[in-house]
Amino acid sequence: MGPGMKNTFDGIEPLVHKSQISVPYHWWAGETASRFFVELRDTKKIMGTRCDGCGKTFVPPRKTCPVCFTENTKWVECGPAGTVTSFTVVRKQQEALHHKVPVIFALVLLDGADTALLHRLDEVSPEDVKIGMKVEASFNETKDANMTAIAYFKPAS
Ligand SMILES: [Zn+2]
Repeated sequence: MGPGMKNTFDGIEPLVHKSQISVPYHWWAGETASRFFVELRDTKKIMGTRCDGCGKTFVPPRKTCPVCFTENTKWVECGPAGTVTSFTVVRKQQEALHHKVPVIFALVLLDGADTALLHRLDEVSPEDVKIGMKVEASFNETKDANMTAIAYFKPAS
């Protein structure tokens, strides 16, 4: 601010105005993710890709093995049950959360997979979640081919 100019905000609290912008966009999910999401929506099967080189199965599926760089062409059904390998509990309500706290996020190693899937746990209290516990997917009826086809994971029956 130059000499002679007056700061018109002297003594006044800066106003913070809460707003939001909408940025609609589209992107091609790609061949591998497209098949994964369409299978989830239409058949409620959680599909992974298996590497012919090292034998690892990836969920979410990977087109190219990140371990040995072989192209993964084999699709295998995994889950819908799996094991919690890690979890965290969100207790502060934030707008980005679409659920009421506490919200439990977990890495779930699906039966038949070598990599864990990040998702939400429900029908269990945070105090009862344990690493190693068996959980299973609970599916949504949805027209959208995306991760919301799985509503959450719950303790396995
Ligand atoms: Zn491999």
